[in-house]
Amino acid sequence: SSVDALDDSVPEPHRIQNRLTEVVPVHPDTFANTPDTDPSTAGNREWGRLVLARSAYTQLGAETVGSNKIPGPASLESVIQDTRTAATAWQGRGSEVRAWILHQAGNALGARRGDLVSVMAVEAGKTIAEADVEVSEAIDFAHYYAESARRLEAVDGAEFVPDTLTIVAPPWNFPVAIPAGSVLAALAVGSGVVIKAAPQTRRCAAVMVEALWQAGVPRDVLRYVTIDEGPLSKALISHSDVDRVILTGGWDTANLFRSWRPDLPLLAETSGKNAIVITPSADIDLAVADLVKSAFGHAGQKCSAASLAILVGSVGDSERFERQLVDAVSSLKVGFPHDPEVTMGPIIEPPLGKLAEGLTALGDGEEWLLAPRQLGSDPRVWSPGVRTGVRPGSRFHTTEYFGPVLGIMKAKSLQQAIEWQNATDYGLTAGIHSLDAKEVNTWIDSVQAGNLYVNRGITGAIVQRQPFGGWKRSSVGTTAKAGGPNYLTHLGTWKPRPLRS
Ligand code: GLU
Repeated sequence: SSVDALDDSVPEPHRIQNRLTEVVPVHPDTFANTPDTDPSTAGNREWGRLVLARSAYTQLGAETVGSNKIPGPASLESVIQDTRTAATAWQGRGSEVRAWILHQAGNALGARRGDLVSVMAVEAGKTIAEADVEVSEAIDFAHYYAESARRLEAVDGAEFVPDTLTIVAPPWNFPVAIPAGSVLAALAVGSGVVIKAAPQTRRCAAVMVEALWQAGVPRDVLRYVTIDEGPLSKALISHSDVDRVILTGGWDTANLFRSWRPDLPLLAETSGKNAIVITPSADIDLAVADLVKSAFGHAGQKCSAASLAILVGSVGDSERFERQLVDAVSSLKVGFPHDPEVTMGPIIEPPLGKLAEGLTALGDGEEWLLAPRQLGSDPRVWSPGVRTGVRPGSRFHTTEYFGPVLGIMKAKSLQQAIEWQNATDYGLTAGIHSLDAKEVNTWIDSVQAGNLYVNRGITGAIVQRQPFGGWKRSSVGTTAKAGGPNYLTHLGTWKPRPLRS
């Protein structure tokens, strides 16, 4: 299979970074299907070549990254107080001006599409197509929140008092879109922001922040910091002059933050353990394609990823589905994204703990249809794994692994499938493939997840059309959905005001 053929062809990651010039031809079709969110970015679709050069890479975001390390508590205090002061002026500029600057920010992100794609490919291992779509999502957030901020002030009967200081703690898995979305939302309402970049993807966040500064967001209103995990991190998150923390990350991290400051106003989008149910009425070809995309996009490193396929009745009984799935998964080309044919990139770090277990250990009754293997010499490059025979209540059924491994469960009925889909601590995304409207309606009425997808993949929520956020342990401290109509209303407090008659 093509997975076997990869062994010798996987390049060392330092090769990508050490070469002085590595020019990668990108097929123009790569960009043909991505939503063109902003006409001003159209020109960027034509570069056709992507430069992943050490010289270019080290320059990307270098100024931002180089000068923003917080050396100690004294400067932490000044970052917090200076940002609060600057935020007052930012609020005073009014929502019209802020909306205008946010639209400029969307344009600036588009203008730096090439840099953003490059830095995501090198730093996060995203494929070119995945990184390109992510830039589009960031641009969407800018334009959408710009307009949302205008509507916020139109609410009658209550006065919105925006936060003054927001800390944004973004993840490494969507290293541009999620930090951009969180930062832009807070800026839209008039808050000052300190972004604490994810250490694995500091440059991605740095380039994003530079684009926002270039667009007119004042540097003292949006502060970029790199900070070591530990006492300083705790001091920042738990500081009593912080009005809110926007976190996207693990449920454990949200709890850690809460343990540091129990009354912390926290907006946290956290973990998921997501399944797609496939019933006998499904279009099986479509189901297989959507499952593969949802399970192995960005090597499964998404909160939204499909980690389970629950096959109902004859879908599980016949061998057709599993055979077709194995064929499809085997056709993924694994490697580093400088190779334009690569469809699944590396994992962010060599697997440890839970992920190492998920890639190697089988539970009772489970067997590999495709056993994941580490390819070549880089410990981050793993072929995708598919295990079958996952039992209800087992470790694989309920544990989030955050990597390229999918489990199959076989249910007798749709009812049983839904029970299993719901029987985890999480509730972020859920999917069904069925062409039977009655089945679909039953499922919609009983499935417990924030984002439900019918006959499509379960990742890649689109700003405004599919507001993103979960139930249960998939969110902490909030019912807010990112990219949705109420998100900004959570970034402040509401004070009653007398109704005028
Ligand atoms: N919003 C992303 C999606 O819909 C997932 C974000 C995450 O993994 O945190 O796929």
